[in-house]
Amino acid sequence: MVFESLSEKLQNALGKLKGRGKLTEKDVNSSMREVKLALLEADVNFKVVKNFINDVKERAVGSEVMESLTPGQQIVKIVNEELTNLMGEKESKLEFSPTPPTVILMCGLQGAGKTTTAGKLANILKNQDKRPLLVACDIYRPAAIKQLQVVGEKVDVPVFSMGDKNNPVDIAKAAVEHGKRNGNDIIIIDTAGRLHIDEELMDELEGIKSEVTPNDILLVVDSMTGQDAVTVAETFNSRLGITGVVLTKLDGDARGGAALSIRAVTEKPIKFVGMGEKLDELEPFHPDRMASRILGMGDVLSLIEKAEKSFDAQKAMELEKKIRSQQFTFDDFLDQLDQMKNLGPLDQVLGMIPGINSKQLKNLNVDEKEIVRIEAIIQSMTKEERTDPAIINSSRRKRIAKGSGTSVQEVNRLLKQFRETKKMMKRFTDMEKSMKKKGKFG
Ligand code: GDP
Repeated sequence: MVFESLSEKLQNALGKLKGRGKLTEKDVNSSMREVKLALLEADVNFKVVKNFINDVKERAVGSEVMESLTPGQQIVKIVNEELTNLMGEKESKLEFSPTPPTVILMCGLQGAGKTTTAGKLANILKNQDKRPLLVACDIYRPAAIKQLQVVGEKVDVPVFSMGDKNNPVDIAKAAVEHGKRNGNDIIIIDTAGRLHIDEELMDELEGIKSEVTPNDILLVVDSMTGQDAVTVAETFNSRLGITGVVLTKLDGDARGGAALSIRAVTEKPIKFVGMGEKLDELEPFHPDRMASRILGMGDVLSLIEKAEKSFDAQKAMELEKKIRSQQFTFDDFLDQLDQMKNLGPLDQVLGMIPGINSKQLKNLNVDEKEIVRIEAIIQSMTKEERTDPAIINSSRRKRIAKGSGTSVQEVNRLLKQFRETKKMMKRFTDMEKSMKKKGKFG
């Protein structure tokens, strides 16, 4: 779950206010002290925290809030709004050029995730029916060009390279010309990183910028580096004038400092966040949704979007038919589990559901291993047994348990659950049928 510790502490601090009828200024101050500590411990920039707390307090102790029927909840709402403001209010999209190609310059320190993000971005744009071109401008690290080519191949996007003998400014210029000739409407330039910011790197990026005038200059920073990421962003911004930030590795145990400070310090928006190493794990950044997630209020919109992307409409229709005609089998069940896994790690998915806060998530004890065991049981059944589990007798149950490395009890439990689910499905369809009949004749 993103920013788990911060999330837990904020929910604790605000939870104390929520249930109460009347609040005094002292109550608010004491909760705000806790909020302040939580933010500082999450490595949020000191000045940002100070302004944030002042803004919340100013709004919270007004008579409108204090004299309302639910002052605690009003304060949670204020904190939510101010957290959203801190991260930039609303989603900030890419700038597309009215006359293609659009040029996106990727920059950042080594290891931040530039090359991976360039590939992820190309993947997103390709799926929006664009024709991106990736450009290899890192001529210093021997493996860099190859790495981009591998990424390009994986997402099926062409990569422009001129080896490591030309200078990056010339490569960028030639790439744009190449893109124009080949109908590429978006040129994504991957540049060299360094371990630290140095003059040479900045000069080179400035050179590329003035040659190809990018529509977007995206700085890629590693969220795990906290305030260092913010300092890097400040420097790149003052030298280069970045247009946005991509925050990577939010799937790790970043504390939240970078996400909550970068916008306020640089006045440049976070445009995307990296949620994993895989090339489809880049998401547009929505400050309001992130604020809700941090406060344990869920993120239903992102969940729906994920589901829409990963569920296969054709399969869903077939499944509905099967449910209606009671032909739902263990094979369909396996399919369902597979689709669910496509949504991402279970705790990340559950973390998007409102009302499930980080503490409850721990208590729920989501055990992905459980799903693996269920899958193993089903996979140990024969094709006939999956279609008609009623034929599974006691000796077969033993074999299935052995084959799947589980116990007979577990096999029995799964079979029972399956029978009951089917019964329930039948009741639903019967009910639906009888209601339809009534509608027709009544
Ligand atoms: P570059 O030097 O800036 O081009 O960085 P790379 O693209 O080579 O990435 C450095 C490492 O970070 C690689 O191992 C990537 O797989 C990993 N990485 C990049 N983005 C993410 C992310 O969002 N989450 C995780 N967990 N790893 C990432």
